[in-house]
Amino acid sequence: MGRAFVYVILGGGVAAGYAALEFSNRGVSHGELCIISEESVAPYERPALSKGYLLPEGIELVLGTRVISADVRRKTLLTAAGETISYKILIVATGARALKLEEFGVNGSDAENVCYLRDLTDANRLVDVMHSCSGGNAVVIGGGYIGMECAASLVINKINVTMVFPEAQCMPRLFTPKIASFYEDYYKSKGVEFVKGTALSSFDMDADGKVVAVNLRDGKRLLVDMVVVGIGIRPNTSLFEGQLTLEKGGIKVNEKMQSSNSSVYAVGDVAAFPVKLFGETRRLEHVDSARKCARHAVAAIMEPEKSGEFDYVPFFYSRIFALSWQFYGDNVGEVVHFGDFSGNTFGAYWVNKGHLVGSFLEGGTKEEYAAIAMVTGLKPAIEDLAELESRGLSYAMAVSRKPPPPSQITNVGDSGPSLVLEKPVYPWHATAGVILAGSIAAFAYWYGRRRRRW
Ligand SMILES: Cc1cc2nc3c(=O)[nH]c(=O)nc-3n(C[C@H](O)[C@H](O)[C@H](O)COP(=O)(O)OP(=O)(O)OC[C@H]3O[C@@H](n4cnc5c(N)ncnc54)[C@H](O)[C@@H]3O)c2cc1C
Repeated sequence: MGRAFVYVILGGGVAAGYAALEFSNRGVSHGELCIISEESVAPYERPALSKGYLLPEGIELVLGTRVISADVRRKTLLTAAGETISYKILIVATGARALKLEEFGVNGSDAENVCYLRDLTDANRLVDVMHSCSGGNAVVIGGGYIGMECAASLVINKINVTMVFPEAQCMPRLFTPKIASFYEDYYKSKGVEFVKGTALSSFDMDADGKVVAVNLRDGKRLLVDMVVVGIGIRPNTSLFEGQLTLEKGGIKVNEKMQSSNSSVYAVGDVAAFPVKLFGETRRLEHVDSARKCARHAVAAIMEPEKSGEFDYVPFFYSRIFALSWQFYGDNVGEVVHFGDFSGNTFGAYWVNKGHLVGSFLEGGTKEEYAAIAMVTGLKPAIEDLAELESRGLSYAMAVSRKPPPPSQITNVGDSGPSLVLEKPVYPWHATAGVILAGSIAAFAYWYGRRRRRW
């Protein structure tokens, strides 16, 4: 015996929440839509793990429930509790999980002072551990998004931080060496130490099972009160392996976010979708694409004749300490840096095969971020790199002031200014209980008062 729904969203994160909102905006009948999530709370904004929960009326929330198998031919999901839930249309929004140290041959993830950060449970744990070692020493393993943001937050909370990563620079997948050097110098000015070009080899534990020292492959030994691990994520595709076509580590979908099975859509970190701007399939691990592709999938499901192709300019951003940057497009090809790297505002363009394909800006205004978003979406031909360098940000500003035909900016307008404003345009209902709200507030405080709502 089990339940049956017209639409089932599998997953309870960002993409699931935005898909549910889009269903709600477009009007689903009571009982037509179900969300199944392993988490015990309704979908929430994951990056800042903040504010309200999404509870539009009439949606069946099956929380704290792990789906252990899926049969896309029969259109059924089997939960760990043994219930079979059937669907007509399934949206897979299972996101990704944090990579564990054990996958790299190091034991100790379960130690009480070793933290990861992917969901609310992780966040609560991190806050508890952090409070228990105020004024102490933390080692942050990994120099990517999570590592950089957690390091900043630990420093703000008066914990001494050493960052350890094997690469030669922080944010190696996105930053150029010059950009990375700016942020590393800034972090050093805040007291963060960097140990680069090496990796964790083992932990030393005390009798209570707490990590007391971190041993590195280069022979260094760092005494610690806590460890934060941010070494990447892996998309949660396992339920669908052998049933759906996979690509780039995710579920391959078309421009309507539809998988190789026409009744199954995939959105968010788990989806590999065609990025028109680059002419290839990409899987993005960022909140903006999770929100937008989820909405697009629901539009494609409910009004297929009206919904076009998903035309998306990749967009990532971060706010750390007093800094704030945005990136649009792709970081391939030749790099042209601009601006004052000893000041507050600088950036870079990436030019590939004669076209501007990516833009990065630190310390921009709302208009400047909108300008780099627009120019990246237009993919203009660039003949003279030296001239682009000398014009710098004024190039993007000039292009943005000369409005191109609407056909050229359909998605850029969508992903530009509205992203910068980051004002929620949907009805969130803060219905979380007192305990949950308290823990989120504590985390939000810890996460840094400078961070605003995403
Ligand atoms: C701390 C943090 C900071 C971030 N900072 C940034 C940032 O600065 N900029 C940026 O662009 N992005 C950032 N991100 C990334 C962004 O949050 C993700 O891209 C986004 O959450 C992806 O949404 P999703 O819905 O695909 O996956 P998720 O939000 O991870 O949701 C997946 C959901 O599926 C559920 N699930 C998985 N498998 C099952 C199963 N078998 N049964 C039931 N439920 C299941 C999970 O429990 C979870 O609820 C950050 C992420 C984190 C964690």
